[in-house]
Amino acid sequence: MKRVVEIIAEKCIACEQCLAACPENALDMQGGIAVVNPDLCTACGVCVEVCPAEAMVLPGAEKADAEAMPETAQEAVPQPADTQEKTPSGEAKEVWVFVEQTDGHPANVSWELLGIGKKLSEDLGGRLAAVVLGENVKALTDEAIAYGADLVYLIDDPVLARYRTEPYLHAMTELARKYHPEILLLGATTMGRDLAGAVATTLRTGLTADCTGLTIDPQRKLLEQTRPAYGGNIMATILCEKQRPQMASVRPRVMPMPDRDATRTGKVIEEQLGMTENEVGSRVVEYHREEAGEIRIEDADIIVAGGRGLGGPEGFKMLQELADVLGGVVGASRGCVDAGWITTPYQVGQTGKTVRPKVYFACGISGAIQHLVGMQTSDIIVAINSDPNAPIFKVATYGIVGDLNKVVPAITAEFRTKLKGRKAQQESVSA
Ligand SMILES: Cc1cc2nc3c(=O)[nH]c(=O)nc-3n(C[C@H](O)[C@H](O)[C@H](O)COP(=O)(O)OP(=O)(O)OC[C@H]3O[C@@H](n4cnc5c(N)ncnc54)[C@H](O)[C@@H]3O)c2cc1C
Repeated sequence: MKRVVEIIAEKCIACEQCLAACPENALDMQGGIAVVNPDLCTACGVCVEVCPAEAMVLPGAEKADAEAMPETAQEAVPQPADTQEKTPSGEAKEVWVFVEQTDGHPANVSWELLGIGKKLSEDLGGRLAAVVLGENVKALTDEAIAYGADLVYLIDDPVLARYRTEPYLHAMTELARKYHPEILLLGATTMGRDLAGAVATTLRTGLTADCTGLTIDPQRKLLEQTRPAYGGNIMATILCEKQRPQMASVRPRVMPMPDRDATRTGKVIEEQLGMTENEVGSRVVEYHREEAGEIRIEDADIIVAGGRGLGGPEGFKMLQELADVLGGVVGASRGCVDAGWITTPYQVGQTGKTVRPKVYFACGISGAIQHLVGMQTSDIIVAINSDPNAPIFKVATYGIVGDLNKVVPAITAEFRTKLKGRKAQQESVSA
């Protein structure tokens, strides 16, 4: 007998989420209760996953899951429908990473996400997949594999040439409905934020934006998504227990860049978009690149950042001197931006930029959590603060307790002398 989904009428709350999610249009409402058309139902299990009332059941799924799982895991692991059946290989759960690109140039955050995605897929006992969407983007499949993907889903179509929500949403949701990823990660960029929200809404799943930490709960195998909450006053760990995929976005530079290994091999699964240009409601009329010269502190290796301890806007001249000597840039806390001492593009933190330089000088910055989330993954943090109990010292590699008006010029003079000496030495060696 054909296996179809069963509906527990008394549990149905008529939310119609299953109707929207069913890829076969096999569900309908009758008298306020969902009903299934057995001719159309393919027992894919999507409705079981999205049903918030647990009113949909796949006969045999529980038994199959129970048999497949070790005894200890049977109680602990919630099985959101038969996700394992639905992966192409029929076994491994998949962690997906959206590979963001513009004109074929990938955004580095995609590779950073493949780095953390690799760890998640290993902890999940699954595999890592990249999703490459665009026109003439086949070369990115090799790149994604080099950065850790085991397989790549590719849709290469002229309709995807420039990012627009509709065709990218269509591509991503159709892939997800067909291959059932367990986890989907996107960069918290302009494009990633737009796509993530649209995908989560369409698939009726949860999305945790701007995560600063991602791990797998070893017992329940759920994605633990950590991010600042309540104005950054606490770090919340969020779970998406029932809906799939579990979706998270992460800002650039929050996760470390993985090593690139060009010798890696992987599988590429190419799919068709299934949407024509006429079906897209928007057109790209003009395209403007960001002006060269725009301040991009997020790309700097050395940042000399100042806080309210500077006492006024003129304090930044002192920081600029140190930054110039070291070949770095100036940054700031929101306290300074709010006071009008410096403009927003320089702001580091939760509502500013996330940076990951080799060296971060925090001068007269207290170390509020909203600031820390934007810079605490810097390789070396040098904190200068007159208050020995300032929270910034908890994340600092080197802490200097003192008046920045004395410490910063002294450091600048010392570096100037040392670097000048080294330059002279190098010139005499090469001469
Ligand atoms: C929703 C929300 C989002 C936020 N987003 C951000 C964000 O993105 N980035 C951000 O930075 N903040 C953000 N904040 C603000 C944050 O909570 C802090 O208020 C802010 O970071 C404080 O800035 P500050 O460290 O410069 O100033 P303060 O907290 O006033 O600290 C000044 C420090 O300077 C030291 N100091 C004073 N004089 C000297 C001296 N002469 N020499 C040496 N040290 C001295 C003091 O001991 C003190 O530790 C956010 C807040 C909220 C509610």
